[in-house]
Amino acid sequence: MFNDFQTPNYDNFIKQLKTLIDKYNNTIEKLIASNSFEYNEIIKPMQELDEELSLFFTPLSHLNSVMNSDITQKTYEDSLPILSEFHTKLAHNKSLFEKLQTIKTNSPEQQRVIDESLKEFRLSGVTLPAKTKQRLEEIDARLSTLSNQFSQNLLDATNAFVLSIDNEEDVKGIPEASLASARKIKDKKTVYEFTLQMPSYIAYMTYGPNRLHRETLYRTYNTRAPQNAQIIDEILSLRQEEAKLLGFDDYAQYALERRDASSPDEVIDFLEKIIEVASPYAIKETQQLKEFAKKLDGIDLLQSYDVGYYSEKLKKELFDFDETMTQEYFKKEDVLKGLLDLVSKLFDVKFKKIDINLWDQSVEAYDIYENDTILARLYFDLEARAQKRGGAWMHDFETHFVDSHKNRHFASAFIVCNFMPSSPKSPSLLRHDDVVTLFHEMGHALHHIFGSSEERALSGINGVAWDVVEFPSQFLENFAYQANVLKSFGFHYETKEAIPEWLLSKIETSKNFQAAMGILRQVEFALFDIKLHLKPYKSDEIQALLDDIRKTTSLITPPSYNKFQHGFSHIFAGGYAAGYYSYKWAEVLSADAFFACLDETGGFDAKKAKDYKTYVLSQGSKRDMRKLYNEWLGKEPELKSLISLYGLD
Ligand SMILES: [Zn+2]
Repeated sequence: MFNDFQTPNYDNFIKQLKTLIDKYNNTIEKLIASNSFEYNEIIKPMQELDEELSLFFTPLSHLNSVMNSDITQKTYEDSLPILSEFHTKLAHNKSLFEKLQTIKTNSPEQQRVIDESLKEFRLSGVTLPAKTKQRLEEIDARLSTLSNQFSQNLLDATNAFVLSIDNEEDVKGIPEASLASARKIKDKKTVYEFTLQMPSYIAYMTYGPNRLHRETLYRTYNTRAPQNAQIIDEILSLRQEEAKLLGFDDYAQYALERRDASSPDEVIDFLEKIIEVASPYAIKETQQLKEFAKKLDGIDLLQSYDVGYYSEKLKKELFDFDETMTQEYFKKEDVLKGLLDLVSKLFDVKFKKIDINLWDQSVEAYDIYENDTILARLYFDLEARAQKRGGAWMHDFETHFVDSHKNRHFASAFIVCNFMPSSPKSPSLLRHDDVVTLFHEMGHALHHIFGSSEERALSGINGVAWDVVEFPSQFLENFAYQANVLKSFGFHYETKEAIPEWLLSKIETSKNFQAAMGILRQVEFALFDIKLHLKPYKSDEIQALLDDIRKTTSLITPPSYNKFQHGFSHIFAGGYAAGYYSYKWAEVLSADAFFACLDETGGFDAKKAKDYKTYVLSQGSKRDMRKLYNEWLGKEPELKSLISLYGLD
């Protein structure tokens, strides 16, 4: 039924991987040569191989992230080039592309699998003349070099600067944890060193009392890597060329080809509407901040490098809340049980803990039942440990589908977090933002394990457009702010006392602090990103574009030396080119869906929630998300839900 999780045999791993890939390649050769045009005889065997490869490789990539060691690291690194070569060759296999065009089926789902893979082939340029293909390869190679250089320049500049402070007055108010990492002894004197690395930079910009020091840090940070200007010019020009070669007007259109959003115009329109709605609130928030800074320190002209500092002080005055206050009420075991109870209620499923040996004794596994029939399995690895990489994520292991022998395969997934480890002295205690994180990852996991498609390529999170992937996770996250949900598992870990009302109200009110300012900031990045990919912008035009956007998004104008774009790694060195809007795109869906599942009394509408599972979650990528959404609620998601979610109405 489920494939037991097993530690790989590291000595033989690469050999086994190569054998598996040979088997895959041989099968493809046979499929291409065969006389059959039957979906079941051509496509299904490939899905089976995809699953086999994934089952073989996932335990390694998973353990490399959660039980990292020299051997996992080495085996993982040795595997990557082999897999990457295999996938590249597959994506450019013209004979396979031609074979797929001949496959006949009456099933709409199977037709979608065929259509989507043909689309992928076309987007990788399989149909183009050899010379064009060669140029595309050159562009890809150059783009990857440029991205690396972009990051490297940024990293070098980040590491090249230290602000050394020897006056205790200038570090007053900075939390001890941050001070401890800044404290150094130089010539027998205590000094505090702040750098441009995130935790250090943020600590001074948020708590550092000396305005001149804040400005120095801010200026150095926002003028890093001036040589990235040239790299940006070249990246943008190559991306446009690539899009044109593949038959698109511009890079933004090419990037949107795989997304839920249909055109750059639709995205721009969407973002501009958010600006329109959020602006009045952001103006009020900014005014409040300016008045506060004036009253507190006589600041006449609030600058960009003051925003973090005075916002923190204002937040403290308004709410006096910090995340550690909630810890005693959120014992890991209680929170997990509360989450499973909520999911059981919302989606009418049952969880049953299973007793198996896993990679660490703190890891738990559950089987999930629907109508007393087994449905899926989930693994929870929630506590931090030295061998685990930071952050939180969901990793899909098995995928639900039906193979060519009519065997049903069941889905499973790992949920990984980095919560405070339990010890003989104390259980693992979660901060409220940890609770939110757990709900978020659970949302991703449910999307995967509820997948009901018989086609692997459309099942669970497979094939889901990239700009809606965060929809189910953000949806579930919203429940972690509901007082009735938090009350259901929030009990003091020693006294068992229920979480007090005043704390619940702090969680709720502090959530929306400066929400509109935050929204405008994200929209500024998103609008800049999408517009930048509409034509080959160059040097000064890039700054001009940003300045123009800031007229509507920036209520405190950044100093003219600010070159934010030189550090915009998301789009120049990450995967977010023409995709930064996705954060907000998915958030509108999740907010709208969330409100649809609330009833008038603040409880949950059981039918709507169950339908959400049926119409959205279980459908995977059988149809586009906008269609699924419409089938569920009979309407488009509404922007005003996002505004309500932040309490801006
Ligand atoms: Zn996520």
